[in-house]
Amino acid sequence: MRRKLVVGNWKMHGSIAANKVLLEGIIKGVHDLHEVDAVVCVPYPYLCQAQSLLLDSNVAWGAQNMCSNNDGAITGAVSPAMLVDYGCTHVIIGHSERRNLFHETDDTAAARFNAALAAGLTPIFCMGESLEERESDWTDYIVGRQLDSIIRRFGPLVLEHAVLAYEPLWAVGSDQAATPQQAQDVHDFIRRRISRCNASVASAVQVLYGGSVTPANAAQLFAMPDIDGVLVGRASLKVDDFVGICKAANVQT
Ligand code: PEP
Repeated sequence: MRRKLVVGNWKMHGSIAANKVLLEGIIKGVHDLHEVDAVVCVPYPYLCQAQSLLLDSNVAWGAQNMCSNNDGAITGAVSPAMLVDYGCTHVIIGHSERRNLFHETDDTAAARFNAALAAGLTPIFCMGESLEERESDWTDYIVGRQLDSIIRRFGPLVLEHAVLAYEPLWAVGSDQAATPQQAQDVHDFIRRRISRCNASVASAVQVLYGGSVTPANAAQLFAMPDIDGVLVGRASLKVDDFVGICKAANVQT
């Protein structure tokens, strides 16, 4: 039985004062939810704050990206070991905003994915198609290519230590979430594709959906057999919304 996982992606939002209110609200809101795991992926400067506030809570924390090198003359980069130093358990890899705004490719995302695993972090590996690609019936091709960029390089067993996230680009930040059935169809495709290499990995790996998830649509998404959780952007910045989504996940298990 796969546990439900709700991951907040704060993106480039927050301040020390606002984070304190948000994190304290989340801690209080999820403390008695035992059937769901909650993670917040915060901007690098707030990892220390997240660590000190969340240490004794049932909320884990992580980062939104990282370098694939562990150290070196790479100005502005943050290494996997640094994330581990701050108690991170998870790191988002290959988010569409990193792919589009920072020219992340399948190759660089795969290198980061591998470096995260080597550091003992759980990579949350993002995949998804653009609207144009969906309308051209290329969804399976694009998501399959992104998934294969990991499986071909490292084999299916690495997925035992990773989380996958299907995030259609047209749904991220758009107020147009995929319907539960649209998301389920792609999650099913992902699981079937992994299953060609390893059936037990395919049935165990957590596959999250991301894109305009709110407390209003969360329960219907969680009701789908292959949706094991969600990656949440905007709604992770509001206590009631994030906690509401965690509660919806908690009752579905
Ligand atoms: C995201 O950034 O991964 C995301 C899903 O954003 P939003 O929930 O705001 O669509």
